[in-house]
Amino acid sequence: MPKEVVKAIERFKELDQRISHFTDISALLDWDANTGAPKKGVPMFSKAKGTLSAEIFKLLTSEEMGDCLEVLTSAEGQAELDDITRAAVRYRKREYDNFKKVPAELHKELVIHASNAHTVWVEAKQTNNFAHFEPTLAKMVDLQRRLIECYGYEEHPYDALLDGYEPGLTVAKLDPLFKDLRDKTVQLLKRLMNSKDRPSNKVLFEEYDVDKQKEFNLFILPKLGYDLSAGRLDISEHPFAQSINTGDVRITTRYKKNDLRSSLFGTIHECGHALYEQGINPAFEETAIRRGTSFGIHESQSRFLENMVGRSYPFWTYFYDDLQRHFPQLKNLPLEDFYRAINTVEPSFIRVEADELTYNLHIMVRYEIEKALMNGEIEVKELPRIWNEKMEEYLGIVPPTDTLGVLQDVHWSFGGFGYFPSYSLGNLYAAQILNTIEREIPDFYSLIANGEFAVIREWLRENIHQHGAMYTPDELIVKVTGEELNAEYLVKYLEEKYSKIYRL
Ligand code: ZN
Repeated sequence: MPKEVVKAIERFKELDQRISHFTDISALLDWDANTGAPKKGVPMFSKAKGTLSAEIFKLLTSEEMGDCLEVLTSAEGQAELDDITRAAVRYRKREYDNFKKVPAELHKELVIHASNAHTVWVEAKQTNNFAHFEPTLAKMVDLQRRLIECYGYEEHPYDALLDGYEPGLTVAKLDPLFKDLRDKTVQLLKRLMNSKDRPSNKVLFEEYDVDKQKEFNLFILPKLGYDLSAGRLDISEHPFAQSINTGDVRITTRYKKNDLRSSLFGTIHECGHALYEQGINPAFEETAIRRGTSFGIHESQSRFLENMVGRSYPFWTYFYDDLQRHFPQLKNLPLEDFYRAINTVEPSFIRVEADELTYNLHIMVRYEIEKALMNGEIEVKELPRIWNEKMEEYLGIVPPTDTLGVLQDVHWSFGGFGYFPSYSLGNLYAAQILNTIEREIPDFYSLIANGEFAVIREWLRENIHQHGAMYTPDELIVKVTGEELNAEYLVKYLEEKYSKIYRL
């Protein structure tokens, strides 16, 4: 092996390891900040965390990293790499190129504007005053457009932002997928709303003892395959999963006394994210590829477990007795009625509270708006009107206030454009993966009804989890399902499931 390559491999591995260590520490700090760090210390500690982030950024974009990548991406270098290092090099190269494209001044301007914009957004949302947020948001959109020019794109400006969350994703790929899903979902929703036999979910909003909710969560988590000796369940305002390393993957939930769904399905959702991270090949530790490969694939794992497993009839065939034992108010409610209750569909204003079916329509509203904003087809001042028009077109309802409409999400205030599509992508991936599992394990749902979750976790681990970020999302979905992403599987799944529940 050429001496130069030997040296570059050695230096790259050391750098990759240092960055991974610092990022793991940073992840632990995030968990701490969101699960009960004393408020008084937050401003001071944020500065310490800022210093750590700056150090990570320096390493990622260092001259040393640049030199290593140059050698290791050459034909001579590539020929000498093992699979793990080759994938780590590809990952770091992508990061390096993207970071290098953005001038330090623009980066700084974005960070400062995002932090100010958050305060303005909170005020505007609280007072239902879009005009208050408008100039701040307009500036953020302008900064995003400048960012896009730095990144560059081939067809659509929005592609440059999509790629940041889902490598390789473009408007040209998404448009047909989303159009198909949207059209079919809007039609199905109309049919469900006209059903003469719509289920009721009133029972889920009775009073549910919070300690019992917690007990039930801790009862089902290990059964689903979550290793509690390699994780823990905490409380936070916005539930999340946080990976420190494969032996330490933490999840959080939030408890509502008058809503059984919130912590129950929130916990199953985060468990899906955690199974992914706990299942990554330990040989990838301390490298760039030791985490899930993209936001969309991650979301596929959480939504698969939450909706396709956790909201299925067989799942409750197995768990309903235990749930009834925890909550006496369900004692006289037949399983069939409970199953229908947890699968009610209702157009609503708030995305994060939406059901499995209408959720995607909330994403479509945001996708269409972000795309048009970045393309310069619409301007920020038109957003409240356009938002309401799209809500009416897709969901058949118009928010009475902007607080319940265009101002509801935090994402735009910090410049998180391009992120929303990952949620619906997750659903699309999940349905396509379900189709493959059912082909390979024909008794998939009988296994669930018998509580045999190990087989399912092993399948996911073998086919998806263990690979971490070894493959791009495009490569992974083809490897797992044998074809590129297509909307047909999710459409079919939703139609079959909800036609039955609504007795169409
Ligand atoms: Zn999630």
